[in-house]
Amino acid sequence: RRGAPAPETASVCPYCGVGCQLGFRAREGRIEEVVGRDGPANRGRLCVKGRFGFDYVVHPERLTRPLVRLEGAAKDPADCLDPARARAKFREADWEEALDRAAGGFAAIRSARGPSALAGFGSAKGSNEEAYLFQKLVRTGFGTNNVDHCTRLCHASSVAALLEGIGSGAVTAPFTAAAEADVILVIGARPTENHPVAATFLKDAAARGAGLIVMDPRGTGLDRFAEEVVRFAPGQDVALLNAMLHVVIAEGLHDRDFVARRLAGFEALAEHVRAYAPEAVEARCGVPAAQIRRVARRYARAERALILWGMGVSQSVHGTDNARALIALALVCGQVGRPGTGLHPLRGQNNVQGASDVGLIPMALPDYQRTDDDAARARLEALWGAPVPAAPGLTVVEITEAAGRGAIEGLYVMGENPAMSDPDLGHARAALARLRHLVVQDLFLTETAALADVVLPASAWPEKTGTVTNTNRQVQLGRAALAPPGEARQDLDIIVAMARRLGLGWRYGGPREVFAEMAQAMPSLANITWERLEREGSVTYPCHGPDMPGEGIIFHDAFHTADGRARLVPAGLSDPAELPDADFPFVLTTGRELEHWHTGAMTRRARVLDALRPAPVAALSPQAMRRLGLAPGARVRIATRRGAVECAAREDPALPEGMVFLSFAYREAPANMLTDPRLDPFGRIPGFKFSAARVGPA
Ligand code: SF4
Repeated sequence: RRGAPAPETASVCPYCGVGCQLGFRAREGRIEEVVGRDGPANRGRLCVKGRFGFDYVVHPERLTRPLVRLEGAAKDPADCLDPARARAKFREADWEEALDRAAGGFAAIRSARGPSALAGFGSAKGSNEEAYLFQKLVRTGFGTNNVDHCTRLCHASSVAALLEGIGSGAVTAPFTAAAEADVILVIGARPTENHPVAATFLKDAAARGAGLIVMDPRGTGLDRFAEEVVRFAPGQDVALLNAMLHVVIAEGLHDRDFVARRLAGFEALAEHVRAYAPEAVEARCGVPAAQIRRVARRYARAERALILWGMGVSQSVHGTDNARALIALALVCGQVGRPGTGLHPLRGQNNVQGASDVGLIPMALPDYQRTDDDAARARLEALWGAPVPAAPGLTVVEITEAAGRGAIEGLYVMGENPAMSDPDLGHARAALARLRHLVVQDLFLTETAALADVVLPASAWPEKTGTVTNTNRQVQLGRAALAPPGEARQDLDIIVAMARRLGLGWRYGGPREVFAEMAQAMPSLANITWERLEREGSVTYPCHGPDMPGEGIIFHDAFHTADGRARLVPAGLSDPAELPDADFPFVLTTGRELEHWHTGAMTRRARVLDALRPAPVAALSPQAMRRLGLAPGARVRIATRRGAVECAAREDPALPEGMVFLSFAYREAPANMLTDPRLDPFGRIPGFKFSAARVGPA
């Protein structure tokens, strides 16, 4: 640091869904320091990613000019592993040529094969304005609803269950409601690693005496703050939650008045869970019946209880059923709509809530209006001046699968990295390589960009001004602290340039104008204006007045369903897509680590974060390490029916004996080479948390 601190620019952290407000102190094109600001979700706090996760913006590998594939340079999935070899297959181009090629390729496929041969992956790492324009481009420029983003790999099943049950896919209360809760149930989530600042609010609540119940197959960083830790068998969420429902209803602990006034389907649910006495399912759950009874009573008898869940619940082939059972538990106990109560799926990416809200999903237009709703489409067509297709599009994994069989030929990827994040990467990378036309807009030559025809150099979050919406439904404004390097451009400008070449007469004077159009398309943004966000930094939706802060806790008196009642949906038992057997006796579970974000494109290029966590490790229980003859640090080979990876082994007492954990951030040992592509039938999400695996010395 030299002398006085550099000037501070107010923004929001681009990593997890907590949405911490921060200040970039930047000088001469570099961020010298990041400081926490007093935002509603962080109160000045930041985690290690928020403090040290930004020097990737000046990393020497940053793309500063457009790239086009050399004539005759073959697309080889092996290039994903070798950036130098991938780079040698491109030459630099000017923007005119790159954009002409990018848009021209899509127009040619649209003419030859029709709109359904095109698709787009947008991003939850960018702003609401970028996500909104991206989905509008795919819908009106490509002419298809084949548009999706990482929500499909995150909480799609939670959203399916919430929409079905209470008519809204967003949280019913912010995680800061923990401050008023008597009991906080955290299931399938690891907030100390994945939502670290949210975890501090949960620890604060435990410190003042709230009962923290932590339920997970693995030990978590919250366990030592918990009143009760429930370590259940992987994949047995429904059995465990139905057993808790059984106890609640059989012992008359449900909220009879709430059930009578506000719920539909109670009798069927009660009948369904009659067979789930804790003693009948304790072996399956791996949890003693007495403990199931104890936690069910503790939750149900609380005056105010909050449930938070993560991808341990949602990333499953029965993720929607897992979420249905959780939602039913909260509803029958009347634990929704009051201070200190609620349902909160902790969103992964910083703007996954906002990107979904603005319609970056294949079955819904902005504000979750169904694509087959004629009136909703007509309203948007009038606003957009272009036809909007009615048929729901394909989801992320379905688009890759369709590319593999030639049904999708052209794909526009903005800020996503499916060559690292899709399940069964061997097939996914081959499918991406098969595309006739792949355009990738990103900061680096990512594993996906290695297979592109055209690569467009984009802007990093500290170079952007725009709004994002966090897990708490708080719409917040981020401001640019730096200019993009070289010829890199704002993503918003790139999307508009692409749209104009596809025949759309778009003109936007910047993110403020896009936000104004969004507000016309989305009733949920009522009373939230750009000017307010500039002044106040954060406004929660729904907001019922221009000088009101917005409603953190919703559903006081009615749900967003036709009759105002929530619908209870019984969840049946089903096994994971594949079970361990003699050949593949371990359960592989994948996820994130504190220091690295998703596929690592940003955090692995951040010096401090890379130093803290420089290489992939497979975590195994001490017992499994001994049984396999592995010393800590030894090379280990993990194989599933889809592939194998090798890395160092680490002893981790938090893991159950038959489980191995891998982060999906590392190109050298890509966890998704191993994962199973089969999908939950409702949320269309893969079961990243459960694959049968073989583990042994490399
Ligand atoms: Fe960023 Fe999340 Fe850490 Fe906050 S908790 S600083 S939003 S990564």
